[in-house]
Amino acid sequence: MQDKANINIKDLSPQEIEKFVLDNSLQPFRARQIGKWIYRKGVVSFDEMTDLSKDFRDLLEFSFSIKPSLELEQEQLSEDGTKKYLFKLSDGNQIESVLIPEKGRYTLCISSQVGCALGCTFCMTGTVGKIRNLTPSEILDQYMLVNRYNENCITNIVFMGMGEPLDNIQNLVKAINTLIDPNCLALSPKRITVSTSGLVPKIKELGEQVSVNLAVSLNAPRDELRDEIMPINKRYPIKELIDASVNFPVPNRKFLMFEYVVLKNINDSDSDAHSLGRLLRGIKCKINLLPFNEAYPLPYESPSWERVLKFQDILISYKINVRIRKSRGSDILGACGQLAAKYPSIKVSETRANI
Ligand code: SAH
Ligand code: SF4
Repeated sequence: MQDKANINIKDLSPQEIEKFVLDNSLQPFRARQIGKWIYRKGVVSFDEMTDLSKDFRDLLEFSFSIKPSLELEQEQLSEDGTKKYLFKLSDGNQIESVLIPEKGRYTLCISSQVGCALGCTFCMTGTVGKIRNLTPSEILDQYMLVNRYNENCITNIVFMGMGEPLDNIQNLVKAINTLIDPNCLALSPKRITVSTSGLVPKIKELGEQVSVNLAVSLNAPRDELRDEIMPINKRYPIKELIDASVNFPVPNRKFLMFEYVVLKNINDSDSDAHSLGRLLRGIKCKINLLPFNEAYPLPYESPSWERVLKFQDILISYKINVRIRKSRGSDILGACGQLAAKYPSIKVSETRANI
């Protein structure tokens, strides 16, 4: 017997599975059957695909692997119900995913890379640097495994975990195509949000390929300040970023979102709130204010609650739809910007190993 090929079948988009089927002179509905077995029924061997012929199952077995590409290392439970999952990849790297229960929904925050190249000064993942992109199967398995551990409760997905999703756009789009395909995971694109620090050409590219929600991490209303805290701004300044964002095709009845991490005495002044109001006035969008989540050794502090409320009031005076996003899972370093996987400085308050 020859060595089995090392391609994970979950690295193929539904379109690529169909091509494989056609290339082997089979009918297209065979691809839909495969999609259902993998993603709906969650089988972990081709032999379980009992409505495919033995010959075809052998061909699949010979061509692909089907086992999960992640191994659960740790699950942590926060006081607020948020759960953080630490997964080991086949090369020993680690990533984290966070499940956030909210009123009427469960949102999974997915990682798209090991580390991140963009080096935003307020973000733990940025301190790691980019180690590598995640494959489509590593992206999808975060959803499949966490969904399985939690009675298939996940209703929404946000690409706000480790990494810059648009710096891994090819694998991101493949994974999204599988997430939304009716024969695979069948999620509505309205329930998927991609968050980006502002890779302007890739925003356009993403919009040409899929229509999902877009969240843009703005974090500063002036180039001078944004250059300082988000180095990517030197390449794609605010005006270009806003232009690309407003042209992004968000799904019907959905709004473009801007994220604004509020850093004490850095970007939280009245004057910055007015600048932000002027910048976004008249744009059909929502703003989420994210009070900075502290994580050693990041050199910033959280603003006071009163400061954030005042900042919000000023934005409301510009008729902007603005919400303050309460930090979730910060006691287990599962909140935005705190994900860094194996960082020895990280303390955990509660740990449940391998459920
Ligand atoms: N790379 C993407 C997605 C991952 S970061 C992006 O930058 O959008 C997800 C969100 O967490 C971003 O809006 C980012 O601005 C925010 N964030 C990063 N560090 C944070 C911190 N320490 N506290 C609060 N939010 C943070
Ligand atoms: Fe990367 Fe996003 Fe963190 Fe910036 S905020 S370093 S882009 S993960």
